[in-house]
Parts: sequence; structure tokens; C-alpha cells
Amino acid sequence: MNAVPKLPALAAATNAFLARKHQLFIDGKWLAAVDGRRFDVFDPATGETIATAAAGEAADIDAAVRAARAAFEGPWSKFTAAERSRVLWKLADLVEQNAQELIELEIVDSGLPMALAQYVVRGVVPEFFRYYAGWPTKIEGATIPAAPQGKRPGDAITFTLREPLGVVGAITPWNSPLPMVMLKLGPALATGCTLVLKPAELAPLTALRIAELCSEAGVPPGVVNVVTGFGEAAGAALAAHPGVDKIAFTGSTEVGRLIVKAAAGNLKKVTLELGGKSPIVVFPDADLEQVIPAAARACYFLQGQNCMAGTRLFVHDEVHDKVVEGIAQIARAMKLGPGLDPSSEFGPLISAEHRQRVMRFVDAGKREGGELVCGGTAPSRPGYFLQPTLFARMKNDMTPVREEIFGPVLCVQSFGDADLAQVARDANSTIYGLSGSVWTRDIGKAMQMVHRIDSGQVAVNMHAAIDAAVPFGGNKQSGWGREFGKEGLEPYLKTKAVTVTW
Ligand code: NAD
Repeated sequence: MNAVPKLPALAAATNAFLARKHQLFIDGKWLAAVDGRRFDVFDPATGETIATAAAGEAADIDAAVRAARAAFEGPWSKFTAAERSRVLWKLADLVEQNAQELIELEIVDSGLPMALAQYVVRGVVPEFFRYYAGWPTKIEGATIPAAPQGKRPGDAITFTLREPLGVVGAITPWNSPLPMVMLKLGPALATGCTLVLKPAELAPLTALRIAELCSEAGVPPGVVNVVTGFGEAAGAALAAHPGVDKIAFTGSTEVGRLIVKAAAGNLKKVTLELGGKSPIVVFPDADLEQVIPAAARACYFLQGQNCMAGTRLFVHDEVHDKVVEGIAQIARAMKLGPGLDPSSEFGPLISAEHRQRVMRFVDAGKREGGELVCGGTAPSRPGYFLQPTLFARMKNDMTPVREEIFGPVLCVQSFGDADLAQVARDANSTIYGLSGSVWTRDIGKAMQMVHRIDSGQVAVNMHAAIDAAVPFGGNKQSGWGREFGKEGLEPYLKTKAVTVTW
């Protein structure tokens, strides 16, 4: 058991934010939920309540959608592209200026380790907003050499306008909550859409703070609205609302299916960033000094609560034992603890319920014949910690290999000198297709595997190559559409074809 450390004091701004009575952010104002209900927000490292938030429901969603529509048709539509750029750039500056508060809120709300929270808030989030700040002035249509109804050149012109899609409903999960919100805010503000955001009930705090920073950055009231609350009430009402033009959802594949059904009423557009079960394939010529720490990080990063986590490790027989032993050594040595302690390397899972769910997969792995190399137990300390867990001798049909666990459970399988097609078939043998990596010094082998792995992202000799400019999203049941990069703008735009004659 790791000793419970004395933690550094929170910044005054963080304490002041936590002490507030958090309300819904609608039309630039803080409002109580219509029926006045609230829910507790707790720190997963201690299990203690740190704040309460308003539990919005259908009536609150309706008010937020109306505000978003009015802003879309009103003041926001008058912003020039360059003005939207400046707003996004200012937002990036404000994230940096308020970084310590955002870092601490993200840690106590979602259990992020300090180093990761620093990297996210000081690096990933401002860089992402600056990347999207570059786009508004570059969103262009085309002129088309068309001849509608036989018009001759010089008698007509046809061109396209790229217009903002409208009111976007954004529904986000609790793992890494601020980046999840960032991924919806960046393209929505860049294109001129307005947003009703329903953050995860398990980690809603930084969504509320960033909405406030949007106002400070010059975003008019009603452009960014936040309705905290539960998925079945607030989330479902947003997905079904006839005044919403698009849902941008990140979460589980199971809820993704409910979103698609709810969206059918007004056939709103839907993008889905869903679950994953990503493979890491290690060939015997790979540089094991690189592979071992990278494979441990690929799975245990964010305590495995990470959609692109590399949770299925396929290792060639020749290097199998060495890789397994190397990862086990890293896993055993990881220092568990609250993210506020800068020396903690591995934080808690998000909730007691989620930890129980992960433990059920550990039990299934043991029952179905996997070899538990290390981890698999919860230390006796406050909070929802679980040791990083490693299973060897796993098979494709075992439950922990097939299903997304969303916890720190790495399943290793070995392969011999099978042909690459068979290795790729095994790597592709789940319903998911989000990320993946191949480790070898043989570029030909690497590229053949890249060609065969059916996922939205594949990296060679690294895992999860994330960058604001690089499209990310899922194949198969990992999702619809892409976020990040230029492609991430497309779902927030619609094309109008215009023909003018005279
Ligand atoms: P979840 O699907 O349970 O919840 C996600 C969001 O949906 C929450 O805000 C929740 O309140 C809301 N919700 C729940 N039921 C709803 C309903 N009936 N209608 C509308 N909204 C509803 O997911 P989670 O547990 O918060 O997050 C973990 C999942 O998210 C994992 O499956 C993970 O792989 C996925 N994820 C995917 C990506 C990606 O980019 N592909 C990124 C992060 C997380």
C-alpha cells in the first residue's frame, strides 16, 4: 500500500471556483436548473465531495437550444472570420493565464496525474485553440465551370458557400474532460456554429470554467451554453431536440447507438467518437528499449481510461517473455497516488462503480484462463485506485480481449512466424477500429501492417500520435467522422451551391 501523502494546497482561484454554487451557463448567464435539482461532484482520489452542480433536464436543454439559435442567427453571424480567429486566439491565451486553476480542477475532478494535467492544460489545449484560430479565414468554397440549363460561359457563374451548420449539441465523457470539450469548441467557434454542451456528470467542472473563459475571450452570450446533468435526462433531451442541427458525441459505443436513434427524429447530423480496443503489434526486430516503456504507457496512460489505449499487445514469440517481464517491472514500480502529488504516476479510476466494472473484467480474465502477471487488486486506501494489471497468454475470444474495459488492463498474446495477413486479422478481430501501432525496423513489414490494420490511426514505432493537425476518429464501431485537423471542421460546415445568371 502506498502511503497517503500530504498534498500541496490548492491555488486560491481553484478554491474560490470549487466554493461556488455551480449553475447552468445559458445565454451568458448562470441559471439554476428549472426543477432546482443538483448532484455531487467528487474527487476520485479521495471519494470526497468537492462541489455540487445543477442537474439540468429537458426544460433546461430547451432554454439553452433557444439561446444558441438566437445567437447563431444574431450577433455571432455578424462576426467576420478574422474576428472569430481572434476570439479563439484569446481563448488560448486565457487558458494559459488560468492554467494553474484549470490543472487543479482537472485533477480533483477526474483524477489526472499532475504531469499529464500540466501537459494537457499548458500544451495541448492552447495549441489546439491556436491551430483552429488559423482556420476561419481559410474556409473557402469553390467556383465550378458548370453549364446549368445549357448556359454558355460568361452567361452564368456557379460557386459554393461553406456555411456554419448551426446549433451543435456536444456530449462529452469524463476521461480527460477539458480536451474533450476543447475538441467540440475549437471547430464550432472556427466555423461560426453555436454550442450546447452537456459534459459528463462525473467530471463537469472545467466545462463550466471554460464557458466563462469563452465569454471573457469575446464570445457573445448564447454561443457557448453548458447544461450539466445526467446522460439519460439532459444528454437524451439534447440528442432528441428538434432545434439542434448536429450532435457531436464522444463516449461509449453503447450510448453512441442511443444517440443515433434519438437523432433520427429531425435527422440531425451526427459525429461519434466511441470506444476502442487498440492493438500494439511487436515484431522480433523491434527496438525493445523503446517498445517496453511505450507499450506500458500506451495502456496505462490515464489509468487505461483512454479511448486510444493500446490494450491488446501482440508480441512475437522470440521477444515475448522479455517484453512481458519489462512491462511488468514498469507496472509494479508505478507510484499510485492522487494527481495533486507531483510524484504520483498513476491516479485513481473515475468512480467506485467503474472500478468494480474493471474488476469484473480482471475476474473474467482469470476465470477464462489468462495468466495474471501483475496487478489486478485495489490497494486499501481512500479513492478508487487499482493497480496496473497485466495478463499474458490471452486469446482473441476471451472477454477482456474482446471488450473495451476502459481501465488499466493490458492483455498480451503471442504470435509465431505466421503470415502478416493472419497477424493483421487477429489485430482487427474486435468491433473497434480507433488506433493501433506496429513496432519493427523493417519498413516493408511496417507498411504492409499499416495497410491491413483497420483503424482510424496507425503509428509505426510509436503509439497514439496525437496532434491538433492530424485527423483522429474511428473505423467500424469506434465512430463516425473525424476530429482534429482540417477534416475536423467538415462536420461543422454545410455546402450551399449557388448559380447566378444575368
Ligand atoms: P458514456 O457513453 O457513458 O457517456 C458519455 C456522455 O454521454 C456523458 O456525458 C453521459 O452523460 C452522456 N450520456 C449517457 N447516456 C446518454 C443518453 N442516453 N443520451 C445522451 N447522452 C448520454 O461514456 P463515458 O463513460 O463518459 O466515457 C467512456 C467512453 O468514452 C469509452 O467508451 C471511451 O472509449 C469513449 N471515448 C472515446 C473517445 C474518442 O475520441 N473516440 C475519447 C474519449 C472517450
